[in-house]
Amino acid sequence: MQTKQVALVTGANKGLGFEIARQLGQKGFLVVLGARDQAKAEAAAATLCGESLHVRALKLDVTNSDDIAKLPAYFENEFGRLDVLINNAGVNEPEGEPRIDSLRKTFETNVFGAFAITEVLTPLLKAAPAGRIVNQSSILGSLTLISDGQGGAWTKPAYTSSKAALNMLTVVAAYELKDTKVKVNAAHPGWVKTDMGGDAAPLDVQEGAKTAVELAMLPEDGPTGAFIHLGKNLPW
Ligand code: NAP
Repeated sequence: MQTKQVALVTGANKGLGFEIARQLGQKGFLVVLGARDQAKAEAAAATLCGESLHVRALKLDVTNSDDIAKLPAYFENEFGRLDVLINNAGVNEPEGEPRIDSLRKTFETNVFGAFAITEVLTPLLKAAPAGRIVNQSSILGSLTLISDGQGGAWTKPAYTSSKAALNMLTVVAAYELKDTKVKVNAAHPGWVKTDMGGDAAPLDVQEGAKTAVELAMLPEDGPTGAFIHLGKNLPW
């Protein structure tokens, strides 16, 4: 069995996922970088290997049921364990017409993908000494913020409701796992400069990755079923 703690980060070929993988590697994890494109996964892993980090590349499209079905055997056979799952892969595409298509497409990745991966990997996470699940959410999934009118131009159906649904799945999973050592939390990274966040965002990826990394390494008395940004609870 692998002696290091093992983490899976989805959507790890760029942006926040790549930086979360880097920071977890710097903290001593063996990190599996999931990406929907094998070549991109390998390129990202090669960069982090070049920084002397212990990483592996894995082709993982979070909307592909074959990729997902292979996950438990991959972690069992390669490492004999999985300690941390970061459901980071996400999309925020322009909402075209008909808007139902955008809604379905966004939910496939941001909600159904995260749920399906969590389902198949929960047995391994339960067997880990300190299993942690982090769902990369957004303050735009906060019913409180959107109903207060603070979402501004971001107040559109697909992305906001997908992150609200992911928040609910976080709470439900935390409830279902309340008698285990596994902690399940939703992270808001902040508004971060990435392809999704754009250049106007105030935070860089180093800062944006911190919340997910903190939640991946929560101590035994840390929270579960919470929505957090840099150590502070956010309103659902
Ligand atoms: P990004 O740079 O656009 O990266 C998104 C990542 O998700 C990419 O690696 C992308 O892969 C991957 N992805 C998309 N669909 C996928 C699929 N079906 N299977 C596997 N991977 C898939 O965006 P980011 O800013 O780093 O966002 C990461 C997460 O943070 C998202 O969940 C996002 O909603 C959340 N978030 C971001 C911000 C922000 O300000 N940036 C704020 C709040 C929350 P490809 O390269 O193949 O497209």
